[in-house]
Amino acid sequence: MVKRFFHRIFGGENRIAVSAGIPASVCGSGYAFAGICGLLLAVLTLGIPSVFALTAVQENAVQEKTDQQDAVQTICIDADFPGGNIHLDSLEGDLVRIRPELRGGNDWFYFAFRVKNAQGRTLRFLFNAKDRIASRGPAVSSDGGKSWRYLNTEPNADSREFTYSFGPEERSVLFALAPLYTQKNWDEFMAKYRGRDNVELSALCQSPEGRDVELLRIGKGNPNARFAVVLTCRHHCCEMTASWVLEGILEETLSENSQYGEYLRENAEFFVVPFMDKDGVEKGDQGKGRKPHDHNRDYNHEIYPEVRALKAQVSRNFSPEDGKKIFFMDLHCPWIRSGINEKFSSPLPKEPWISEAAQNYFESFEKHQKDGEIPYSPSNNLPFGKGWNTEKNFMKLENGIPTSSAKIWACGLPNILCACTIEMPYSNCSGVEILPQNARELGRNLSKALVDFLKDSEKTEKTEKTE
Ligand SMILES: [Zn+2]
Repeated sequence: MVKRFFHRIFGGENRIAVSAGIPASVCGSGYAFAGICGLLLAVLTLGIPSVFALTAVQENAVQEKTDQQDAVQTICIDADFPGGNIHLDSLEGDLVRIRPELRGGNDWFYFAFRVKNAQGRTLRFLFNAKDRIASRGPAVSSDGGKSWRYLNTEPNADSREFTYSFGPEERSVLFALAPLYTQKNWDEFMAKYRGRDNVELSALCQSPEGRDVELLRIGKGNPNARFAVVLTCRHHCCEMTASWVLEGILEETLSENSQYGEYLRENAEFFVVPFMDKDGVEKGDQGKGRKPHDHNRDYNHEIYPEVRALKAQVSRNFSPEDGKKIFFMDLHCPWIRSGINEKFSSPLPKEPWISEAAQNYFESFEKHQKDGEIPYSPSNNLPFGKGWNTEKNFMKLENGIPTSSAKIWACGLPNILCACTIEMPYSNCSGVEILPQNARELGRNLSKALVDFLKDSEKTEKTEKTE
């Protein structure tokens, strides 16, 4: 009993919970002295002559009092949930010093953490460097990730720090670069389509850590399908906003009430990998700039099983002999803020004819997106050779072999019709706040544009045949 009593006094200030060998959470009251004094006062108030002489009733009273104080005062900051990532440098008074965990990769800005027991407090969160917070501030969820809002209503947030006043009932609040998207979100999204005859959910392969890497096939083996649509997402695991766009693409494709969906289901077979870096998504890694290279630079080296499996299965399922033409799209998010990073855009491929095909596709998309919330103009697209969209960025010699991206690989497929990537800003797009609903809307319009594009390509093919 005595041991427990002293443990409560002296052991309660800073506790480090260790999960899988990584310090996952640090709890601290920021009121250590006050906490101890309060407890001693409680002992005195109870009229106990000595801690050695506590009765069972008195011990319970002390316990209750301490629990109440813990509940009120002990702030706990952790990243021990899917997608979580934070390194807590210190928690002193109302100042919380934090930084993203890079885990051996390049400097990057992904973070997602939880603060518990700070209700009624105002805390200042200070990162180790600027360009850590997107222009609308952190995404905030007070219901465990079910719904999100941004801290700033205007895109004018400081890139290094934010201050949050916890409401009296906010016992647990999530803060993240943007609304989180992990396997749980995918499972919830797909639940409504499970059991449909044209929908097959399986695993592309096992991740290096033994997780299933989800594979969605729509219309598998459809004998009338003349097109194969291959979609990949989260080659860079931190790029969560791209996943909401993917949901939109699939929503339209699978909608029973959409003429676009009907066309796509009748004429195309879909092969979709929502998490190319599955381990990174669940663990909350940065992923971008992973060493020795990240998943989207692995298409020659093939050190990741996901990349190996995708290349092999796409070639096997959609061979030139099979007769289907391939439309390939890889979904990304850009850098954290400013300029082109806050516009929806497509970095165009090197091959002139595929670049032209992609531009045609995005011109159709512009028409459909006109009534949507997020502004888009094809002039946002980044021609090959401009900005960061250069050979140097994608092809670096590593062990004498140049690195290669998913799009470069797709451009080399003999039956490719169009290969493109999209860059969906994390939280602010041409002045509009990005949330799951308008990111999905944009995705639905990408599907509608796909219908235009596939129909046009059939027309062109017919004209060519008759010439
Ligand atoms: Zn990316």
